[in-house]
Amino acid sequence: MALNGFIDLRSDTLTIPTPAMREAMATAEVGDDVFGEDRTVNALQELAAEKLGHEAALLVSSGTMGNLTALLAHCGRGDAAIVGDGSHVYTNEAGGLAAIGGILPYVVPNQPDGSLRLEDIEAAIRPDNAHFAPARVIALENTHNRMSGAYLTPEYTRQVADLAHARGLKLHIDGARIFNAAVAQNVDVKALAQCADSVTFCLSKGLSGPVGSVLCGSKEFIRIAHKRRKALGGGMRQAGVIAAAGIVALEQMVERLRDDHANARILAEGIACVEGLHVNLAGVKTNMVYFDLDPALPFDAADLCKRAAAERVKMLPTGPRRIRAVTHCYVSRDEVVEAAQVIAHVTHDGRGRAADGKVHAY
Ligand SMILES: *Cc1c(COP(=O)(O)O)cnc(C)c1O
Repeated sequence: MALNGFIDLRSDTLTIPTPAMREAMATAEVGDDVFGEDRTVNALQELAAEKLGHEAALLVSSGTMGNLTALLAHCGRGDAAIVGDGSHVYTNEAGGLAAIGGILPYVVPNQPDGSLRLEDIEAAIRPDNAHFAPARVIALENTHNRMSGAYLTPEYTRQVADLAHARGLKLHIDGARIFNAAVAQNVDVKALAQCADSVTFCLSKGLSGPVGSVLCGSKEFIRIAHKRRKALGGGMRQAGVIAAAGIVALEQMVERLRDDHANARILAEGIACVEGLHVNLAGVKTNMVYFDLDPALPFDAADLCKRAAAERVKMLPTGPRRIRAVTHCYVSRDEVVEAAQVIAHVTHDGRGRAADGKVHAY
């Protein structure tokens, strides 16, 4: 199951299309999607809207484009968007909302569970006053990438939607991994998505599609989003070849995300046994494991990743002493067990393992 011979835990975006996707792509019926005539794109959009409990949907080239398209549809230049300080849209999308949208981010601290406190959101909504950029939208992220893949609950999401709507704002959800959130909580994804005004999710992460995200919302919202997507250069033509894989992703790849979550837990438990590596086991809720190197270890995260890669295990340093490992359908249970062994080995150069199972060697 390895990717190019590696147990590649850097990201779930490294997943490649499955044989069923390749087959669907090869035989997809296609047309010009800018004319609305690609039947496979239309079928994917209908399927996605139906699954998330929205009226309509729009295929976009990436999650970044989905978020930006949504923000451009909700806000004009000089408007503000309420975002988390650790959110992908604020930290990892090249500042597109400001650079392209002229949208001011009102930044609220993300809590360790990925949420934004309701009081903090309230405080970020400034009074209607000539001094202030008016906030038009609140953006949540589910699951939360930087917060260890933590998920938001249906109840919390509903509270934020109610708050937004009571104050005349919209709720956007960056649901890049919203299916992970649904599967982890055993809830229908509608319960996490339906109360928002717009939601994006990625086909190209744990669902293993090659390219693409889908933006969902009302018919009127999608009509505007369609124009914004065009302005961003996102009008693709025979995009049915991508959409065909997306349909397979939605039909075949959602339930199996459970396996990724179970494997992330096995990996986290393995890493927790390595002295000098710190992982918050309770915080591992979906397919992401973040762990930290003890200050006493005489090397940093980049060094550890380099050593692990030399033993076939790739991970991502996300800080000087912080590493991310993400499970996905190209990493088996046996491979996460192997990965944990490699991590222990490269942390301690293979020196002695004590009776308590911990490695004491530095
Ligand atoms: C991956 C990701 C996105 C979008 O990423 P693209 O690479 O543009 O598809 C958006 N939000 C979150 C939380 C993500 O993890």
